[in-house]
Amino acid sequence: MKFRFQHLSSRFHLALGLSSLVVSVLLMAQFAGLVPDRDSALRAGRVALAETVAVSSMAMLDEEDRGRLQQVLDFVVQRNPALRSIRLQRADGVLHLQAGTPVADPATDPPADHPTQTPASTETRLRLQLVQGGAPWGEAELQFDPLHDHASVRGWLGSTELLVAATALSCFVLFYVYLRRMLRHLDPSRVIPGRVRTAFDTLAEGLMVLDPAGRIVLANRAFSEVVGQDSDALIGRSASGLGWSQPEQAGVAGTPWQQVFTDGQARRNVLMHLTDAQGRARTFMVNASPVPGPGGQPAGTLISLDDVTMLEEQEVQLRLARDAAEAANRAKSDFLANMSHEIRTPMNAILGFAELLRRGWQNNPQDTRRHLDTILGSGRHLLALINDILDLSKVEAGRLEVECVPCAVHAVLHEVIDIMRLRADEKDVFLAIEFAEALPATLLTDPGRLRQILTNLVGNALKFTREGGVTVRVSLQRGAPENRLCIDIADTGIGIPADKLDAIFEPFVQAEASTTRQFGGTGLGLAISRRFARALGGDVTVSSVPGQGSTFHVTLETGPLDALDPDEWLSPQALAAVARPRTGGGTVHWQFDAGRVLVVDDGAENRELVRLVLESAGLTVVEAEDGAVALDMVAREAPDLVLMDVNMPVMDGYTATRTLRERGCTLPVLALTANAMKGFEAQIETAGFSGYLTKPVDIDALLAELGQRLGGRRVAGMAPEAAPRWADSASADPARDDDTPIVSRLADHPRLSRVVQTFCRTLPDKLVAMQGALDDRRLDDLADLAHWLKGAGGTVGFDVFFEPAREFERLARAGDTTELERVMRQIQALARRIEIPHGEAAAAATLA
Ligand code: ADP
Repeated sequence: MKFRFQHLSSRFHLALGLSSLVVSVLLMAQFAGLVPDRDSALRAGRVALAETVAVSSMAMLDEEDRGRLQQVLDFVVQRNPALRSIRLQRADGVLHLQAGTPVADPATDPPADHPTQTPASTETRLRLQLVQGGAPWGEAELQFDPLHDHASVRGWLGSTELLVAATALSCFVLFYVYLRRMLRHLDPSRVIPGRVRTAFDTLAEGLMVLDPAGRIVLANRAFSEVVGQDSDALIGRSASGLGWSQPEQAGVAGTPWQQVFTDGQARRNVLMHLTDAQGRARTFMVNASPVPGPGGQPAGTLISLDDVTMLEEQEVQLRLARDAAEAANRAKSDFLANMSHEIRTPMNAILGFAELLRRGWQNNPQDTRRHLDTILGSGRHLLALINDILDLSKVEAGRLEVECVPCAVHAVLHEVIDIMRLRADEKDVFLAIEFAEALPATLLTDPGRLRQILTNLVGNALKFTREGGVTVRVSLQRGAPENRLCIDIADTGIGIPADKLDAIFEPFVQAEASTTRQFGGTGLGLAISRRFARALGGDVTVSSVPGQGSTFHVTLETGPLDALDPDEWLSPQALAAVARPRTGGGTVHWQFDAGRVLVVDDGAENRELVRLVLESAGLTVVEAEDGAVALDMVAREAPDLVLMDVNMPVMDGYTATRTLRERGCTLPVLALTANAMKGFEAQIETAGFSGYLTKPVDIDALLAELGQRLGGRRVAGMAPEAAPRWADSASADPARDDDTPIVSRLADHPRLSRVVQTFCRTLPDKLVAMQGALDDRRLDDLADLAHWLKGAGGTVGFDVFFEPAREFERLARAGDTTELERVMRQIQALARRIEIPHGEAAAAATLA
């Protein structure tokens, strides 16, 4: 490659020129004698030393001073390192004294054949004449080291040359470095006209002009505000050094301006990130275009920076919103798919088996009973599912309210265990509760939610355990920052695979697909339990070994415990002793000696059901179909207790109860409601209700509640599972006029057989009334009586009356008296054949 001087940078030229100037000035100063010469100074010093030695020696040339003179000369040689030797030599060539060791130097030594011939003084050898008594005595010769060591480079150069060379070199290096810094700070933008700069500054877009080395030559105000530095301070800085970052792009390396310098091609819309002066991450859309130089080569790059931070943030928000919407949509679809499956399965069973029974396709009473059990079971499952869904949807909607009231946790535990014990006994597995330590008699928590959590978990534990049993352990976890109540529900059941331990807490998730088939369940229990526990400041977690069992851990916040009095604590024995008396495996039913209950409900069937149940227990029932009628009935019938539906036309249960209380009525009024939601209790209490029962009515709960309030007796009853002789009744041909007795399918039912008896006793009077109404052509009364027979007959298990009664009602409403007579006879024939349960005389005996 051929070297061209003009290819060297201008900085090199400048540095070279400036160092030449300095060297020239130095040389002129030297020439003018302004710069001291080291060699001359050394030479002068040596001459002065030689003269001093000569003068001193002349004073001691006598023989008696010889010793002293020797000492003086030795001392002088020793003190001057550059002085090799001193020799005093008489004029006849005899050496008088010598200090130091002279070095032979052919250039200055006298020739060997004329030792007295004295060569002239040289730089290394100075000779001076010595005089004694006015006559020449001889000479003193001082031999010095050469001024320069010719073995080194420095020895070849005189001190002036050295000075010039050193100055030239160091000046060049210093100027070169100095210029590098200075040039960077020189403002090349000054060459840009002021109006152009002003125009740049007015742009909202950031602008930079870079030189080919990537250094900033110009930065407008918008950009300098972003980086928080004055635009002048940015000049000369490397643009890449400002801390840019770039999203990874396949096949693209370096910043857009580096790419522009590589290939001279503009780059458009490159996204780059930069942290601004306030520490905020900003995103810019960068465009970089080459600025052509004289030879067509890029002489710089013009960079525009469009701040798209807001746009990008909005895009991110939009993307998040879209993802959330998609997830919600997916969740909704999953939920609906699950729900439709969960609801359809029991619905299919209910409708299918109901249809089967309606068509009379069952082969024997056992089949019928099995089908009814399936319908009942599916109905209960649906109800549980709907309750779970309502709970879950409230949690999901963030409307889960938990109360914080003093709650006897151990009592709730015993309650749950008592209810579950029946199930455990049925499966022949044990169900035990252990209190590891003393607990406060009450804690602040939500008893209702706690009961739900425990019922779910203990229910699950029993469901999935075939052998062994379930142990509920209760303990306190004291510690920072909070104290917690721990309830462990440990079973010896099928266990849960490790990879399912998290998923089972999701709604509708079951550990095994086959679980539902085998054990039933909705997959909602754990999801709800965990959410409830979290709302109560705790959690539900699980540990499990497949095949060996699972332990569900429930924790609940207890609040501060230190402030509790010692008598507010119960020992483990006391906690365990609270267990309720067990009711035993058999059914308990209630008997009342007297008692009058007003049943207020707009649904005739509901009233009827409650009436049947209560009358069978020995209570008297009066009915009202809305709140307004109920107010009259309370005044007229003087009931002992009121069962009040909440939602009714004309006047609802709340208003009726409030009015009763305003009138000073202190009767127990129990609400009957299908809406047992959170917050409902408060409403019930405010209205003045004494308590509430949920619909569908749980007969045992209803009787237990009335038993407590009206002084009923518990009596051990018959097995509830006794099969009713239902086929006898259902399959009886109404048209057959023979003497085969017709038996109610509820005849053997422990509780409802009394209702059947009541019906049987009432029936003759009703038939007489019907006949009277028929004779008098009171068609409306006839229709009402037929309506009663249709409903009541079916309800008490005499389904044979249903069809003829329905027909009778239709004919009465249509006014077809001829046909009415015929059907009346048919009904009377049927009535003659019915058998009153438990050996009482046949109704026929009392019939006309
Ligand atoms: P489900 O109504 O199906 O019981 P859960 O949410 O209560 O719904 O439980 C979800 C799943 O977790 C169950 O289907 C079962 O697979 C698993 N599971 C819950 N408790 C236990 C347990 N004690 N032992 C084994 N598996 C359990």
